[in-house]
Amino acid sequence: MKTLITDIQRFSLSDGAGIRTTVFLKGCNMHCPWCHNPETLSNKPELMFYESKCIGCGRCFEVCPNGAHKIIDGKHIIDRKLCVSCGKCSEVCYAEALVMCGKPMTVNDVMKQIVQDKVYYDNSNGGVTISGGEVLCNIEFATELAKACKTEGIHVAIETNLSISLENAKCLISHLDMVMCDIKIFDNEEHLKYTGISNSVVLENIKKLEELNIPFIVRTPLIPDVTDREENIEQIADYIKNFKNLIRYELLNFNPLGEGKYKSLNKANDFEKERPLSDGNLEKLKNIAEGKGITVKVI
Ligand code: SF4
Ligand code: SF4
Repeated sequence: MKTLITDIQRFSLSDGAGIRTTVFLKGCNMHCPWCHNPETLSNKPELMFYESKCIGCGRCFEVCPNGAHKIIDGKHIIDRKLCVSCGKCSEVCYAEALVMCGKPMTVNDVMKQIVQDKVYYDNSNGGVTISGGEVLCNIEFATELAKACKTEGIHVAIETNLSISLENAKCLISHLDMVMCDIKIFDNEEHLKYTGISNSVVLENIKKLEELNIPFIVRTPLIPDVTDREENIEQIADYIKNFKNLIRYELLNFNPLGEGKYKSLNKANDFEKERPLSDGNLEKLKNIAEGKGITVKVI
């Protein structure tokens, strides 16, 4: 079994406890317009073009079978309607201006990289985090990967939007040590409007995690004028405050770093002009959540 992996990030310090390796699976069922990993949304391979790295050697024009590379008004563009993501141009682009995102890998391929850092996981109480995209869109692969990690004695967590029923994910959950899940917006209509999906399954699944007795962290990405409203944070904190398996509530400050990726994929970025929240605003939201009696961490 192979799946598309967009990245395997070693020595990660922000995806759970200790030093971790984070494995990013490709494909997500939500379409949050602020996503800072837009290359993980589609479950198909995609060509990324970093124009500033292009040295104009012309090799991509020679090898593309579909003539998708064009010069229009003196500018090198990729005609996305002609591109079939065959990857031939990225193979000859030594400047790394062209990168195919989404490498088909087996669980064994991924494990070969994961086990290299076992000593760091052991010494820092770290481990592996399976992320995406959306892990629950790829349950079979994630389950096999989690199982392989446990066989090696490695701590495993997932990062998930939790919007897919956990009925088919019980086997995956049984191999996990922790779940990091999002509640982005408490108001269902707003959630539906921005993510394309109702949050009813998310809220039910949090109850399910409690029933399955698995420790979890709830996270809210702070998106200016969308999720960072005081009422939203208060409602979420109120909902999660009585769960015994809640480790903490994390408020993730807006991350504008996806900008270059949107450009490389030629996708529009509605949140291009937004910037991270100020320390004062972060403190205010933290205080609101802490007022519900839970542990809160701002990241
Ligand atoms: S192969 Fe790479 S560096 Fe050469 S023209 Fe194409 S994009 Fe630019
Ligand atoms: S990925 Fe293939 S079809 Fe797309 S631009 Fe490159 S060579 Fe052409």
